[in-house]
Amino acid sequence: MSFASLNLISPLLRALEAAGHENPTPVQASAIPAMLAGRDVMASAQTGTGKTAAFLLPTLQRLEERPAQAGRGPRALVLTPTRELATQVKEAAELYGKELRHLRIGAIVGGVPYPAQQKLLQRPLDILVATPGRFLDHMERGRIDFARLEVVILDEADRMLDMGFLADVERIMAAMPATRQTVMFSATFEGSIATLAAKLLKNPERIRVAATEANNAKIAQQVHYVSDVAQKKAMLLALLKEGPVGQAIVFTGTKHGADRLATAIGHSGHSAAALHGDMRQGARNRTLAQFRAGAVRVLVATDVAARGIDVAAISHVFNYDLPRSVEDYVHRIGRTGRAGQSGSAISFATRDERPALKRIERFTGQQIPALAVAGFPLIEAPADNERRAPAGRGRPPRFGERAGAGRPRSGQGADSRFARRPAGGDRQGRGRA
Ligand code: AMP
Repeated sequence: MSFASLNLISPLLRALEAAGHENPTPVQASAIPAMLAGRDVMASAQTGTGKTAAFLLPTLQRLEERPAQAGRGPRALVLTPTRELATQVKEAAELYGKELRHLRIGAIVGGVPYPAQQKLLQRPLDILVATPGRFLDHMERGRIDFARLEVVILDEADRMLDMGFLADVERIMAAMPATRQTVMFSATFEGSIATLAAKLLKNPERIRVAATEANNAKIAQQVHYVSDVAQKKAMLLALLKEGPVGQAIVFTGTKHGADRLATAIGHSGHSAAALHGDMRQGARNRTLAQFRAGAVRVLVATDVAARGIDVAAISHVFNYDLPRSVEDYVHRIGRTGRAGQSGSAISFATRDERPALKRIERFTGQQIPALAVAGFPLIEAPADNERRAPAGRGRPPRFGERAGAGRPRSGQGADSRFARRPAGGDRQGRGRA
């Protein structure tokens, strides 16, 4: 299937060609015709599936038609959970809309001064990308004119609810014209998301995309069991030093932990920076720009701050601390393996984190192979709440030898660059599945 067969207009086809997108992804193939037909859409598709273009392309096409009404205020509103995602959606709209004339795109996010945003809202806008808190703030001061509003898109709606934005989203949506087209993208449509969707969407086209980042064959997942947190740090530094790591994101569970670890990585000679929600927006933007430019090699981040980062040079994602939710695991590992590149997702797990790892394996339907790291004793997957002693036979196992979390499914194996198997097979060190 081609983009042309989806009846997209030629300025969009030219922009897609320039972006190097040859064929629509499954979510694009389903969502674009439905949205072009004016239908409401609820799509369960995660980042990495091409969801952003899936809702932007038909929206841009709709905006090519003259507005029914003159005046100010946005014609399309995209709500995103985080500032970073808002920035990325805005950049994607600029990319796909670059052949369209007079397209005005703006963003309204928290953490930046108000005056420029007030000015933006006084002008006619085609697409406004916003985070709920700041948007509501402007809305309640009467600064947003909804008279021209035609399309509302809730991107990563589950995440918005996780972050406590349900009441804000409901208040925003209650102010929108009833004639609008409403589109919701979410990783899941369970629980409160289903209730919200039922309230907001009219006879929606339902789209489910099976391919998620957890099933992205280009992302090789592996886990290293560690005895304690100190060993995590030592292993991470060893991998950064010895392994074929290009640019990397290291995820920590706390903001404080991100700061401390970034400093430690910096001290060991790698350019590293922290990225988390306690930083001012200006500092976050600068850090991200440095990371994009390659001046920072290792970004140490918390989940919310790093969500949506799209940098093709990220070869590795490290889960220094395992995430609290399984969805976060999927979002984290999807920061690598982008734009057709392959990537590695490496988790460190203490004994206490084994249950979290099991939940991730159940959620993604995959066993994550456990590997050893050269210079460290192999710790096998603890079973039945018991950590097994390091493998005792022969020499200590090396980088890439298996420690017993089962065989990877095809395409899901350990990154061959990390998992060099010594001549003579991999029997040594293989434990129970
Ligand atoms: P998203 O799921 O929107 O976060 O997009 C993930 C990545 O896929 C982005 O880097 C897009 O530029 C890229 N992408 C989106 N659509 C396509 C396509 N049809 N072909 C190739 N790459 C795409």
